[in-house]
Amino acid sequence: MTPEELTDFGFQKIGAGEKTRRVRAVFDSVAHRYDVMNDLMSLGVHRLWKRYAVHVSGVRPGSRVLDVAGGTGDMAALFRERVGPTGRVVISDINFNMLVEGRDRLTDRGAVPDTEIVQADAQSLPFREGSFDCVCIAFGLRNVTDKAAALRSMYKTLRYGGTLLVLEFSRPVSAALRRLYDSYSFNVIPRVGALVARDEDSYRYLIESIRMHPDQEKLKGMLEQAGFGKVDYHNLSGGIVAVHKGYRI
Ligand code: SAM
Repeated sequence: MTPEELTDFGFQKIGAGEKTRRVRAVFDSVAHRYDVMNDLMSLGVHRLWKRYAVHVSGVRPGSRVLDVAGGTGDMAALFRERVGPTGRVVISDINFNMLVEGRDRLTDRGAVPDTEIVQADAQSLPFREGSFDCVCIAFGLRNVTDKAAALRSMYKTLRYGGTLLVLEFSRPVSAALRRLYDSYSFNVIPRVGALVARDEDSYRYLIESIRMHPDQEKLKGMLEQAGFGKVDYHNLSGGIVAVHKGYRI
């Protein structure tokens, strides 16, 4: 993708460079209230989605894990519990404010000395090829301007046979659930965002970006296009969220 090309920012079409700036502004704005909003919006269920993804990751004591777009560190903290003292967990995110929140929360959990924190763009990860056994991106991919570039970059940081996990909002499988979910998302979430995070627009973007994100099958194809093998996915909460898994082959 060249900088001149247009890309989605929620339901708008804007230049690629402009998207990166506006996504940064969204997360600068919501960083401080990000975790409480996640609990409110999902009624705490995001914690179960994250636990499930870690459960199927194949990560075990001694594994080296990279949590891309790791934000406030939920996934990294769960991986930290799994890898034990001989493992390695790195959080990377493009947004400094999200990482600061993450560092504070990991400090509270006593996990900071053992978790590396790196400010980096998912599209060009600064790690040596083959550095990780598992690379995960949770609720991050839809915010990245050039998703194909991010998938290629994640592919390279994995060792051969290593696992990619993408946890992301997806397309509910039943029409009835889609209608219910649409009504909740567009009517309730921006209002909660206005009240709690004092930022209705950012939460409107986050909802719109979910609708613009590739559905389960399309994302599977994108992973395959990036080179991943044995790609499959599992729907959670009726497809509101899906976990895609693939391997560097
Ligand atoms: N993974 C965390 C979680 O599950 O709670 C945070 C998800 S949050 C919805 C999306 C994160 O993606 C934000 O922290 C944002 O800064 C990050 N992000 C957006 N674009 C990025 C990029 N190009 N490279 C790395 N991180 C990016």
